[in-house]
Amino acid sequence: MQSHALDLLHSVFGYPGFRGQQQAIVEAVAAGGDALVLMPTGGGKSLCFQIPALMREGTGIVVSPLIALMQDQVDALGEAGVRARYLNSSLDAVTQREVEDQLLAGELDMLYVAPERLLTGRFLGLLDRIPIALFAIDEAHCVSQWGHDFRPEYRELAILHERFPEVPRIALTATADERTREEIVERLNLHEARRFVSSFDRPNIRYRVAPRQNARRQLLDFLDAHRGEAGIVYCLSRRKVDETAAWLAEAGVDSLPYHAGLDAATRTRHQQRFLREEGVVMVATVAFGMGIDKPDVRFVAHLDLPRSMEGYYQETGRAGRDGLPAEAWMIYGLGDVVTMSQMISQSEAGDARKRIERLKLDSLLGYAEATRCRRQLLLEAFAEIYPEPCGNCDNCLQPPKTWDATVASQKAMSCIYRSGQRFGAGHLIDILRGEASERVRDLGHDSLTVFGVGADMDATQWRSVFRQLLAAGLVEADPEGYGTLRLSATSGPVLKGERKVWLREDARPAKGRRTTRSTPAAAGASLGIEEIEQPLWNELRRVRAELARQHGVPAYVIFHDATLLAMLRALPGNEEELASISGVGENKLKRYGKDFLAVLTAAG
Ligand code: ADP
Ligand code: ZN
Repeated sequence: MQSHALDLLHSVFGYPGFRGQQQAIVEAVAAGGDALVLMPTGGGKSLCFQIPALMREGTGIVVSPLIALMQDQVDALGEAGVRARYLNSSLDAVTQREVEDQLLAGELDMLYVAPERLLTGRFLGLLDRIPIALFAIDEAHCVSQWGHDFRPEYRELAILHERFPEVPRIALTATADERTREEIVERLNLHEARRFVSSFDRPNIRYRVAPRQNARRQLLDFLDAHRGEAGIVYCLSRRKVDETAAWLAEAGVDSLPYHAGLDAATRTRHQQRFLREEGVVMVATVAFGMGIDKPDVRFVAHLDLPRSMEGYYQETGRAGRDGLPAEAWMIYGLGDVVTMSQMISQSEAGDARKRIERLKLDSLLGYAEATRCRRQLLLEAFAEIYPEPCGNCDNCLQPPKTWDATVASQKAMSCIYRSGQRFGAGHLIDILRGEASERVRDLGHDSLTVFGVGADMDATQWRSVFRQLLAAGLVEADPEGYGTLRLSATSGPVLKGERKVWLREDARPAKGRRTTRSTPAAAGASLGIEEIEQPLWNELRRVRAELARQHGVPAYVIFHDATLLAMLRALPGNEEELASISGVGENKLKRYGKDFLAVLTAAG
């Protein structure tokens, strides 16, 4: 059986070997056992049910929550020569009948189906009449009402076990959250299932966080390194999404907005463009993302703080599914901390809930202000230990400088106290720096003892101090006020000199304004494509784009970037050599081999 699984991996998918726990999972399910698979995005969950479905007699039934996702997976399987279809509300009645007939005739290896469809009496009746290889429940965290992907129908999937007790079930999710895992086991009656828990590390993602100084300029600088690459830019509000997408477009970036306030047709159109075209930047709220299994998203940028570490992990996890280098980049500032604190204080939730929210925010702020390895912190948030600093985050690559900010902190705190704990950072900084603004003079704050005591530091440095003090809870934002700062229970020891404060030195902001892109890096720069490789790389991409157009599928369904990259480096000169490239299965070799070889041999 083992060799059979490996044969299928080679011949159908064209991969040389299994990754991580894939083989153990495939064997367990092929042998008829239930499995709960916890694997990060990009870990390779699909093969864990696709291969057993091909190994076992009958059709594999795959429950999937999103129509776009089903269509993509079915297209990809079709290109690999697997007989797969889907059933959901997007099909007309005639096509639905056709799929059902194929199912009954035993002509399908796999059928993807929406949960609400699966649960109908009619469909369950069909299943009674055919051999079923397995049930795969993808995105299993949709059973959880805690997450924002909650789908009530998922909860009823427990009946599959009652009605078809002999059919193995495999539930899969990329949720790292312990509570959600337990809920999946409970709700889907998976107590007997073997659990396969992978590390949640995403080694190919580089994490970077910077203080917000000049957001537009910072974003444009960041995008320069990702010219021609697909990515997602997350914003907190719909308005900010619209504004950001608009000014990016004006600056020459191929960007589109996506949020729940746009009508369904626009959302679908934008999503399709993001999936089908190369190099589209999607500016979105968190409404965008679940089930987007585009493998070549090269970056995820956060212009605002995400809601929690879980949210941050899920959102950044959409980058680099293909395993190639990708970046998670975030900017954040004093204002975010104030806004988030106030949102928690002013929410209707009870005290216990607020305390949890506050802890979540603290862990996020700890991450943002960290001076040590970010990957370690991120994984620690999910109770996973990453033993060594990773070498692939900003703090590992350029260890931040820290400075003894005890005296500066005392000045900042005294200034808050002496001015009556009723002002925001802007006004406090004016006092510290001795700027006799109209407001400062009107309020008589130019006669305070702290007036001018901080003239040795500029406003940017002071903002950095206030932001870090706030993030560390050494001062707090007044829940009622507009960004008003006040002392907290932990301010005292600092003021009395009993506690030292070390802060990180922020990088100096880039000078000047920018409104358009500068001369950019060549496409493929973040994949390490050298200049002399550029012409062949472009040729390979052109052939792929042409085939994708002919077949009506996204380019990555033809071949992933990882496969093109392997071709570029190995320069296969005949079919046999091409077949040995990872990602080139038998069916794809037959279909596209000639087109790619034509380009490769011309170059070789
Ligand atoms: P997930 O569903 O866990 O996010 P996918 O199943 O989409 O991940 O797989 C992520 C990527 O890794 C896909 O591009 C897939 O083709 C590739 N992949 C999966 N397993 C292997 C393997 N054993 N060898 C090479 N590539 C693989
Ligand atoms: Zn690191």
